[in-house]
Amino acid sequence: MLDQLRPRPSMASDTASPAPAPAPAPAPAPAPAPPPTGEEQLEALADAPQQPPPTDEAPLPWTARTMRWDNIVIVIVMHVWVLHSVTVMPCARWQTWLWLLFLWTWVGFGVLGGAHRLWSHRSYKAVLPLRIFLMMGNSMAGMYCIWDWVRDHRVHHRYTDTDGDPHNSKRGFFFSHIGWIMVPPHPLVIRARKEVNMSDIDNDPVCAFEKKFHMPLVYLLCFAMPILVPIFMWDESWSVGIAVGMVRWVFEVNAILSINSFAHMFGGRPFNKTILPAENKWVSIVSLGEGWHNYHHVFPWDYRASEYGFLNTTMHLIGLCQRLGWAYDLKTAPSSLVRRVAKRYGDGSHPDRAAYVPEVPEAAAKDPSLVEALLTPPPPPPNTTAPATNQAEAKKDA
Ligand SMILES: [Zn+2]
Ligand SMILES: [Zn+2]
Repeated sequence: MLDQLRPRPSMASDTASPAPAPAPAPAPAPAPAPPPTGEEQLEALADAPQQPPPTDEAPLPWTARTMRWDNIVIVIVMHVWVLHSVTVMPCARWQTWLWLLFLWTWVGFGVLGGAHRLWSHRSYKAVLPLRIFLMMGNSMAGMYCIWDWVRDHRVHHRYTDTDGDPHNSKRGFFFSHIGWIMVPPHPLVIRARKEVNMSDIDNDPVCAFEKKFHMPLVYLLCFAMPILVPIFMWDESWSVGIAVGMVRWVFEVNAILSINSFAHMFGGRPFNKTILPAENKWVSIVSLGEGWHNYHHVFPWDYRASEYGFLNTTMHLIGLCQRLGWAYDLKTAPSSLVRRVAKRYGDGSHPDRAAYVPEVPEAAAKDPSLVEALLTPPPPPPNTTAPATNQAEAKKDA
């Protein structure tokens, strides 16, 4: 059903109610369609969740035989253990708190700037040393290897919040947050995973290395290093060192998973009100800027994963890497396109829309054709020449 709701240039007029239309002008002779402008091509790239093709395969029932008991045990143990670890944290030295902040940023940058914005979406390019740094951050998260992360994330964007989505948020908060790793995947997810083109990841030696040595890297970088550095570098106690390692791991995993749960349920939808991903500043705070999720699902190729740099640490770190010459070819959505998509498909919470669009009366809001008329920029005064982009936009909106 969502494929019927995804942004289309003519969405408003398609859904127009039978309101009295103005007298039709004489039908002009059909003209050949003009070639798409750069912005139209970009708009066509806007993320549009699709409904996966139906399958005859029934979902595997949740039985003792099909449940992922290994993951269930790990999740329970890590969360019970962290309850004790939190009580030890007040004894940590100030160097340990700085170490915790440093690790949190490195891991966040590795997963969200690396596995997500670099490898899943190719929203920028990175030189080899930066890719190695990001890969280490991803291993330090103790989650999937980059290869699995990218595969599932590409499936997530293709079939967002449908049965083909590995963490379909329509199946509830717990399922989308962490429950999805505890149960057998839906048959549509299994099929969608096989369809993903992973050739770029296969050809990246950094990803290939991490895939081959994933578990040793996790033991070394997710557990051994975070725990041992405070103990041997500034004489932290063993109990605090282990507690810091557990707190960092468990809280950061939940921060990253909150993008699939909180940011798919709570928040405004200023860029596309027909999809579930939302703008959530709390998720952005804990996940270094990944909570601007409505924007990200509409413009997934934008390295900023947000319209602005507010609460977007990952964007600033990528920008710093660009200045150092480590990141290049950063892709962004033009602001004119962002504004146009927001005013056409958003829920009205975009600040630019509030300033730009006149107040829509209650009655008019029920008639999309009237709303579309209100959104159309006024024609330029007769004695001035409008910029070419405004003319094109007015023509498109008309
Ligand atoms: Zn999402
Ligand atoms: Zn994404």
